[in-house]
Amino acid sequence: MSAFQVNQHGYYGQFGGAFIPEMLYPNVEELRERYLDIISEPSFQAEFWQLLRDYVGRPTPLYFAKRLSEQYGTKVYLKREDLCHTGAHKVNNTLGQILLAKRLGKQKIIAETGAGQHGVATATVCALMGMECIVYMGSVDIERQQPNVQRMRMLGAEVRPATSGSQTLKDATNEAMRHWINHPEDTHYIIGSVVGPHPYPDMVGRFQSVISQEIKSQLMEKEGRELPDAVLACVGGGSNAMGAFYHFLDHPEVKLMAAEAAGLGVNSGKSAATTALGKPGILHGSRTILMQTPDGQVVEPHSISAGLDYPGIGPVHAHLFDSGRATFFYVTDDEAMEAGFMVSKVEGIIPAIETAHAFSILDKVKFGPEEIVVINLSGRGDKDLNTYMKYQQEHGVI
Ligand SMILES: *Cc1c(COP(=O)(O)O)cnc(C)c1O
Repeated sequence: MSAFQVNQHGYYGQFGGAFIPEMLYPNVEELRERYLDIISEPSFQAEFWQLLRDYVGRPTPLYFAKRLSEQYGTKVYLKREDLCHTGAHKVNNTLGQILLAKRLGKQKIIAETGAGQHGVATATVCALMGMECIVYMGSVDIERQQPNVQRMRMLGAEVRPATSGSQTLKDATNEAMRHWINHPEDTHYIIGSVVGPHPYPDMVGRFQSVISQEIKSQLMEKEGRELPDAVLACVGGGSNAMGAFYHFLDHPEVKLMAAEAAGLGVNSGKSAATTALGKPGILHGSRTILMQTPDGQVVEPHSISAGLDYPGIGPVHAHLFDSGRATFFYVTDDEAMEAGFMVSKVEGIIPAIETAHAFSILDKVKFGPEEIVVINLSGRGDKDLNTYMKYQQEHGVI
């Protein structure tokens, strides 16, 4: 039994569990009872792998980044999740969940989205499967993320504004929960990261684990060994990191390194550095580490990257932090932007600003010339061009 996988009670160490209103219990319980059986069925596996290959474009390459390696004096490999259909790792999970939803006999899908990336990945697989899709999104986010709103609509999804509270991600989450409570029979709720009540973190982690499974065989082919010396990934909720870490969790010789968004600085009051600032508490249905006031109110996070702008982390990452299995780094907006511009020029790959945080670890840790460092390139930066350009106008060319 792995010390880092979920236990039979839905916990990772002291984190995890399912803290849900009684009204949601039947939905979550149905999922918990059936998810492992369904995803291990041969017909599920066959359909999932066929679509990962022919629709998503897997396996994604493991690319030896020659110029970056020379620059840092170590062997840097990039796992190219940016080449997945829709431009990021998120579709691995939405595809797995919609196949599961079909087998649970659901006809409708709901999701919540902040920046719109998970909404687009969900709308995409709903179109693929011909299923009705409603995406809840805060009205403020709808205003500032118009291209993704238009993508979702073009894909046939209904985007429903959440008009309560701060009209952002947490309000969209509340509306989605409310919807699910009112439509438990025919609807599945696709959560977009390794967060939420058990079994979501484990389920999402399993769907994303294809990333590290491929890294192992690709490294074997290129380097004659399955295990890298270090794996680097950014953490918002933590799904791309969990996917990249998954098959290395029980190999302590593989260093696991996670980059959290420090915003304007860890102690600036405008940050999303959850493990640096947070305390244990309950967020979105699980016990985890979250940023909170002394009386337990969730603190508004800040990051230049929408995908890392989250006040918590998945319970598995809280455990990886607490146990010391993973090392956490705190990367400011400025450091991430600098890394994003650098990688674009050195490798010809414009990374998502989320991913740029992971690259910044290379500036904080010195690796040896023979060490193999794998960076999970979680997504491409096309969606971030406006932010990159605005930053350059304000700060000059980097
Ligand atoms: C959403 C997103 C993230 C953050 O989500 P995780 O669940 O932490 O992976 C990171 N990178 C990209 C490109 C994203 O779209």
